[in-house]
Amino acid sequence: MATNGIVKDLDFSSFHNVIDGKLVDTKSTRRGINPATNEELWPCPVSTPQDVDAAIQAARTAFKSWSKTTLQHRKAQLLAFSAAFTALRSEFGEVLTKEQGKATFFAEQEVDFGAYWLAGTCALEMPFEVVDDTPDMLVKTRYTPLGVAVGIVPWNFPIMLLCGKIAPAVMTGNCIIIKPSPFTPYCGIKIVELAQKFFPPGVIQVLSGDDNLGPWLTAHAGINKISFTGSTATGKRVMESASKNLVRVTLELGGNDPAIICSDVDIATVAPQIAAMAFMNAGQICIAIKRIYIHKDIYIQFRDAFVECVKAFKVGNGFEKDVFLGPVQNRLQYDRVKTFLDDVKSSGQKVATGGQVIDTNTSGLFIQPTVIDNPADDSKIVAEEPFGPVVPLLQWSEEDEVIARANDTDMGLGASVWSEDIDKALRIGESLEVGSVWINEHLGIKPTATFGGQKQSGIGREWGVDGLRGYCNTQTVFLNHRRS
Ligand code: NAD
Repeated sequence: MATNGIVKDLDFSSFHNVIDGKLVDTKSTRRGINPATNEELWPCPVSTPQDVDAAIQAARTAFKSWSKTTLQHRKAQLLAFSAAFTALRSEFGEVLTKEQGKATFFAEQEVDFGAYWLAGTCALEMPFEVVDDTPDMLVKTRYTPLGVAVGIVPWNFPIMLLCGKIAPAVMTGNCIIIKPSPFTPYCGIKIVELAQKFFPPGVIQVLSGDDNLGPWLTAHAGINKISFTGSTATGKRVMESASKNLVRVTLELGGNDPAIICSDVDIATVAPQIAAMAFMNAGQICIAIKRIYIHKDIYIQFRDAFVECVKAFKVGNGFEKDVFLGPVQNRLQYDRVKTFLDDVKSSGQKVATGGQVIDTNTSGLFIQPTVIDNPADDSKIVAEEPFGPVVPLLQWSEEDEVIARANDTDMGLGASVWSEDIDKALRIGESLEVGSVWINEHLGIKPTATFGGQKQSGIGREWGVDGLRGYCNTQTVFLNHRRS
């Protein structure tokens, strides 16, 4: 089988840029750090402006022929790429646990998600609209690829978010240059190396580097699109940079997702689900549950059940058995999460469980899963996104009041409502100013479903047909039958 050959010739111990179909080294290199052990990982490239120029030139050249290929061909290549990637599940899973920290189960699950995005996007058709079709006139809107896209990826889901950019970009006939996070470059580099078996040189490339690389790419006159996933603060800088050449941008940014728990839920069933969706990936998920509003009639029972679940989570190196929470991914983020713990302490908030960093003999970046008991609405842990394993529980009593409190934020990524009464749950859910609403679940995403944020959680949409549109020019054609 072709995939066996691929398994053999992908070397998971050396990492290079991929420019114009070739593996390219850079003069200087840097190393990522395993956040569970503080050990340095493999050398990886530090790209220069010349590497940026070379990759953009190769993409511009490749675009001329790639954009002319059939949709059917592009989908076939994505499906074959997805299958080969799946065949390397355990290899990619192992590298992901080392560079990102998440437990093996979740790392391999992320490989599955990445493969699902590569293949699942192919279930979509290119958008096309007939606006008017009369004996006199045909008016249609067609969608054509933009050209060269840059995909900028954060460190929390280095595989899945990258595949979620590659698939819609190349399916719509664009070329894409991937820039992984400097904290987690390795899986992204290897996925793009694997992609060379299925796509012509220049269609999918990767540049790895330091903090200079993102600004060099986004300011370059040779690109047509930036798909950025990361923090709101960086997203604003990316948009500023894109404004110079009016480059199209999609920004997938931070979140502060509320979960609203109604009084009629079955606590024994719901509390464990909410706990898992708040602490999965050590809370480092843009759509993790970050504010938990519990109806006052069940607050005490729910809190106690929730805290029991959280106490049972095993924290540790992702290679250990039964670990649920790995470390915080990097030192910068670890220090940021500690400012939330410091604020909890200095403002005298009640800690229901956790509250400390964990001392280990490995210098890993571990923080106890922490639950704050009913802090004030204007406290730091409610108002800001911690992006770590610290979560507040809050009490509510009236529907209008909880909707207003859930909406009282600049963020608008996702939200969930939990109730046996579906009409009520939908009524509350559809009043929330967010891009995704879940009823009796949270974290649901699909390659065929539109995703994105309201307010400062983002601009534009990824995935689904809206995601495809984001990689396209729109062209409206008026065909006058009377004169022909
Ligand atoms: P970040 O903004 O620090 O970095 C994201 C990426 O941008 C990295 O690759 C980084 O190297 C690059 N970058 C940094 N400065 C840049 C610049 N000036 N120009 C261009 N690129 C630049 O974010 P992070 O800390 O890696 O990720 C955490 C944040 O991402 C959280 O706020 C989280 O909510 C958000 N996030 C959002 C989504 C979503 O889909 N909405 C998904 C995952 C994470």
